[in-house]
Amino acid sequence: MDRRTFLRRAGIGGAGIAAVAAPVGTYALGQHLGSRQLSGNYSASVKAGMIRGGVNVWWSVSTTDKVLALTFDDGPTEQFTDEVLDVLARYEVPATFFLIGELVERRPDHVRRTVEAGHEVANHTFDHFSAAIQSPDEVRRTIERGADAIAEVVGERPRWFRPVRGEVTGQVLQAAAEVGHDVALWSVSRDPGNGTAIDDVDGVLRNYVDGLHEGALVIFHDGIGRSAFELTGPDEELVLARRTEIDALPGVIERYLAEGYRFVTTTELIDEHGPGPVGRTASAADEG
Ligand SMILES: [Zn+2]
Repeated sequence: MDRRTFLRRAGIGGAGIAAVAAPVGTYALGQHLGSRQLSGNYSASVKAGMIRGGVNVWWSVSTTDKVLALTFDDGPTEQFTDEVLDVLARYEVPATFFLIGELVERRPDHVRRTVEAGHEVANHTFDHFSAAIQSPDEVRRTIERGADAIAEVVGERPRWFRPVRGEVTGQVLQAAAEVGHDVALWSVSRDPGNGTAIDDVDGVLRNYVDGLHEGALVIFHDGIGRSAFELTGPDEELVLARRTEIDALPGVIERYLAEGYRFVTTTELIDEHGPGPVGRTASAADEG
């Protein structure tokens, strides 16, 4: 099969978890990781044994406050991250960046600049493989390594984890809990499934505006998935899709501000406008 077909089956294109149960193929990993053969039929179910505690998963929060959290996945990259940081600085709005550990190690200065600008950083795995094709140990390792790569730069592991393509498997939940993450998905994206062309800036802008709601987690990208560090080089189709998102970004921010929305980090969205941190007990002071 050609590369695009393979990537699609590997979860980088349009297939769902059910359709990628047992791919077999050779992946070109980042240079220092070498190549390897991945095979097997991973059930994506949790390991046997007692699991203590839990993990929170959020798409958004339920609130009437006009707040939203802007998020960016797949950075840091040379192509997009500086530009995104400049746009956010121009409008003086914060965001949360879900970083790929492999890229964090290559561009720690981008990560520092992101944090120094007041943004939140979060974990988006180390290798950006689909959890649906990884073994339980690989899922655990990529989440843990992603958290540690960030800790190496900013001094602590991040609170938030976002799985690749939003694929929440039993293994993902178990590993996230073990590493101490909460899971943040999203509720507003560039394409709600209406077939917007990948280079249609106005269409993408309209989707972001039409989809907006109070308490939203809004997903953008400042990277191109694994193709940012695959030996085969950038996926040109993804580059174009991301270019379109970034071109729409200033207009999206302006419209959101015009609607009276306030931009907050993911932590502030959940803790200040959602039900609050885990274990928080509601009191009379919370009412009204
Ligand atoms: Zn991603």
